[in-house]
Amino acid sequence: MHWTHDTNRQTPIVLAIDDVPANLDVLVAHLLQEAIELTVALSGEEGLELADSLRPDLILLDVMMPGMDGFEVCRRLKANPELADIPVLFLTAVDEEVEIERGFALGAVDYVHKPYSIPILKARMHNHLALKRKSDQLALLARTDGLTGVANRRHFDEGFASEWQRARRHGRTLSLVLVDVDHFKRFNDRYGHGEGDRCLKRVAGALDGCIRRPGDLLARFGGEEFVALMPDTEAAAALTIAERMREAVGRLAIEHAENSACRHVTISIGVATVRPTPTCQPEDLLKAADDCLYRAKGGGRNQVAVASSQEAAR
Ligand code: GH3
Ligand code: MG
Ligand code: MG
Repeated sequence: MHWTHDTNRQTPIVLAIDDVPANLDVLVAHLLQEAIELTVALSGEEGLELADSLRPDLILLDVMMPGMDGFEVCRRLKANPELADIPVLFLTAVDEEVEIERGFALGAVDYVHKPYSIPILKARMHNHLALKRKSDQLALLARTDGLTGVANRRHFDEGFASEWQRARRHGRTLSLVLVDVDHFKRFNDRYGHGEGDRCLKRVAGALDGCIRRPGDLLARFGGEEFVALMPDTEAAAALTIAERMREAVGRLAIEHAENSACRHVTISIGVATVRPTPTCQPEDLLKAADDCLYRAKGGGRNQVAVASSQEAAR
């Protein structure tokens, strides 16, 4: 089963890992009334699998387990960038300072002694869930553009770097669609900055509606420029999406009396596609898309220009 990680979900998920079913029964009985979704695992291996598929907000982790013990589970969680941010709270019968220290050294946020006091366990659990919620919110803010709500430049840069590596490893194509609002300075001058901001929000919404695949990323590249990063997308498919974007923004029919060709807001688009090789750089693809955008502007705006494969591959 595949679960996507949803930072907006309301009920936090807590994963408890303990090899003794009776211990888990006690936990389940006491946490039944809490506003959490509790899932249990009976071994370190199962716990790691569930952590990966469920992306819990907190892990309650028994230290002493046959096979893979809690320390090893914690070490593996922290070594996986996708799971490293999940707070781990050790449930430990071991009252030895060195063991507790070891748990912290491995990246645990806290521990509770077994047999635990249920009120203390609950208090610590809720504290860490609250902190996790805050840090998720911050992480989301840090990669979202404040005006338009689409991904920001930082998010794009990170996504571009990792998709580039992925495409290179698997010999896949990568397409970039670079969008720029036509004569937007004139729009601001004529209608004011507030209207300009509203326009950018609506344009972002229209562009976002043209992105279909979960792997695609639409971001605000800067100012009145947007970029769509599309893994495993051939040039022809990228061109289709770019045309769809141009039409979608046209359909918004936002008045722009100072736009030369037509009297509503339009966009120009540059599209470039590449199958990354060891000799070409991500900047080359951006440059190719930017060169096309420049051509689309020179060609009279409100149009899409596509890089020939040689251009993008140079
Ligand atoms: P072109 O068709 O050649 O792209 O012309 P342009 O006027 O769109 O291009 P230029 O780069 O000269 O101007 C971009 C304008 O976009 C200038 C800037 O004030 C405006 N702009 C950039 N970011 C924002 C924003 O967040 N809000 C508003 N309202 N305007 C912005
Ligand atoms: Mg611009
Ligand atoms: Mg512009």
